[in-house]
Amino acid sequence: MPTKTSTITQFRCEKCNAPYPLGADDVIASCPYCGYTFTVGGSEIKHLIIPNKLKSRSVKSAVKKWLKFAASKSVGSGVVKSIELEEPILQWIPIFQVTGHFESYHFGVKQKGSGKSATQHKIENRDSGELTEWVIARRHAATFGIDEFIQTLDDAEVKKFKIDLTDSAPVLNAEIDDSDASTRAHKSRMDRERIELLEKMDKLLDHRLNLTPESSTYTHAPYWLVRYSYQKGTFRVAVSGATGKILMGELPVTKRYRIKKWLASMVLLIGSGLLFQVLPYLLWALFQGDSSNSDEIWMIPVFVFAAALAFWGGSIAIMGSALKYEVQLDTEGKERDEGFKFMKAIKQLGSD
Ligand SMILES: [Zn+2]
Repeated sequence: MPTKTSTITQFRCEKCNAPYPLGADDVIASCPYCGYTFTVGGSEIKHLIIPNKLKSRSVKSAVKKWLKFAASKSVGSGVVKSIELEEPILQWIPIFQVTGHFESYHFGVKQKGSGKSATQHKIENRDSGELTEWVIARRHAATFGIDEFIQTLDDAEVKKFKIDLTDSAPVLNAEIDDSDASTRAHKSRMDRERIELLEKMDKLLDHRLNLTPESSTYTHAPYWLVRYSYQKGTFRVAVSGATGKILMGELPVTKRYRIKKWLASMVLLIGSGLLFQVLPYLLWALFQGDSSNSDEIWMIPVFVFAAALAFWGGSIAIMGSALKYEVQLDTEGKERDEGFKFMKAIKQLGSD
């Protein structure tokens, strides 16, 4: 949890009269005894819950299974033997399910081919319909794997909130209200569309989204966190109680992994060095050739130079991951950051 200076006040439930503390940032609160949910300073509101499918024991076995699988794909399965799992912790995360009508428009350009034969293609589309967007109702949502968590809630079943359904785990209060929720829904939808659009085109020239919110339903969703220790470090795995699936996890970087990455980095560095060395000879050879050559031929040194740069960048990125203390992997055991960026650099190189 991030540091914040919030004063806690004692409060008494309007419904069951039980005393409980209320955070200074709480906008919507639930009584931990009877489940009465209300806007602070206001009245009761509609409140739903996504039931939790997991027990502490099933979380543990799912995490063990995933660790074994993810380790074999990255840092080596040897790690798993000396891991000690702590008791899984369940927390109820407050979210809003925002539904509404949207209208969107985008316009951009994609280049096909290269050199003289390159052509610009217009990509334009208009779309409209109904949308559903999940928004975290906390102001400081720095919880591990939380974005993955809400993105996988789509088809989750919802029920009317009852305190008995929470397995006595803490129910976090909301720090934003429903109007903030629709602003956030608009922003997160816009951000996601932008990422998708930029993958399809080279230049995004116009992108608009109108959202007319119809409802925003206050809902709690089950989020599990498991910590484990390996040697002297502590690492985390996040699990969704809504789907029963692993959201994201950390694995300790091992010597074996470091050596593997270091070697890969060296190979790229050498490749980059060779390409850079070839470049002057290549230019010389081209310069010697008769000048009736088409412009196309000049693409060769440009391409070699770009490849050399990409190799060099990749080598640095992989070296960076070898120096890390832990790696983050997703449900499928894929590494998150650097591998992706490198592949993207290579892909962009091909499309230039
Ligand atoms: Zn109460």
